[in-house]
Amino acid sequence: TLSLSSRAGLLKPSPTLGITAKANAMKAEGIDVIGFGAGEPDFPTPEPIVRAAIDALEKGFTKYTPSAGIKELREAIAAKLLRENGLSYTPDQIVTSCGAKHSVYNTMQVLLDAGDEVILIAPYWMTYADQIRLAGGVPVVIHTTGDANFVPTYDQLKAAVTPRTKAIVVNSPSNPSGAVLPRQTLKEIATLALRHGLWIVADEIYERLVYGGATAPSIGSLGNDVFEQTITINGCSKTYSMTGWRIGYAAAPLPVAKAMSNLQDQVTSGPTTFAQKGAIEAYNLPNEAVEGMRAEFESRRDLIVGLLRQIPGIKVPEPQGAFYVFPDVSAYLGNDLATDDDLASYLLTEAKVAVVPGSVFEGNGHIRLSYATSRKDIERGVARIAEALGRRT
Ligand code: PLP
Repeated sequence: TLSLSSRAGLLKPSPTLGITAKANAMKAEGIDVIGFGAGEPDFPTPEPIVRAAIDALEKGFTKYTPSAGIKELREAIAAKLLRENGLSYTPDQIVTSCGAKHSVYNTMQVLLDAGDEVILIAPYWMTYADQIRLAGGVPVVIHTTGDANFVPTYDQLKAAVTPRTKAIVVNSPSNPSGAVLPRQTLKEIATLALRHGLWIVADEIYERLVYGGATAPSIGSLGNDVFEQTITINGCSKTYSMTGWRIGYAAAPLPVAKAMSNLQDQVTSGPTTFAQKGAIEAYNLPNEAVEGMRAEFESRRDLIVGLLRQIPGIKVPEPQGAFYVFPDVSAYLGNDLATDDDLASYLLTEAKVAVVPGSVFEGNGHIRLSYATSRKDIERGVARIAEALGRRT
């Protein structure tokens, strides 16, 4: 048979999408599966955003845009970054893409040469590791625990730096742990980045979804020198419930932004024209438009954490952001259920509940539950998990 590239061999199907597919197949058979797998808000996209995209279509706004996105959108993003994040970018430092996932991809492509190392703090969104490898880079992983609120120590961070380190990824609030990094940790990362000349890749996609008064500062706002070494990534998906619109962006020093824009010239061109018009509307919406969704997530977080904590033996660190909870289920592992993978399969077949195994994120011994689902399903689903785990003791 004819061969594919070795690059293609690096690619495997996304495990989260795999669980969702299996759960959907069970649902199609009429089985009542409760899904905690989803990485997307369950709210509709706010009406004014939808209206703006429809208007754009009706007005014939259906042709190519500049690769980095229309100026009006990049201006709206620049205004947002200044207003909400204290980051002063010009519109030509902003490149909009087909989702923040695409922005992360562009970032790795323009920063990394073969063998360059990128520091990841585990548990981490697995896409980072795959995209680093696709760019020829090497992920270097720091492991954190729920007992430490998934926050790395300065010594851990320092020990991960080598002469080959090119960048460090900061994802706060985090997928999958929901952890928010304290300002002190961001300062430590900034210190190392400045000392060793590292890029900081700050994925702030869950920034607006924070609870209990937590704040997730932008690492680029810690000082002008840090700002010069930071690529700030964000997008519409999670804040505005716009996952399918595929609008994300990277804001970066001009040479980085130019390189990304050149890359997009040859790979995708600009993101979908009328989706960009919807995104402009999103960035001009008043705060209240997202506050309702945030508040609902916060009360679901409290609900699911409270319920999970009633299950004997599992440890449930309280997430401060995003819409995931990442309990330690290692007390239930052993014998026929040796790994979190086995446990997730057991929960799907025995409890009819879909969760994502923690090992997907290098968070072995944990499972990830998304609470972007109804309170009723949270109650029914956690009751089923409790019952199925109870049978194991
Ligand atoms: N970054 C993190 C940490 C995520 O969890 C996700 C989505 O799951 C994304 C980025 C990508 O978001 P999108 O490509 O929809 O903008």
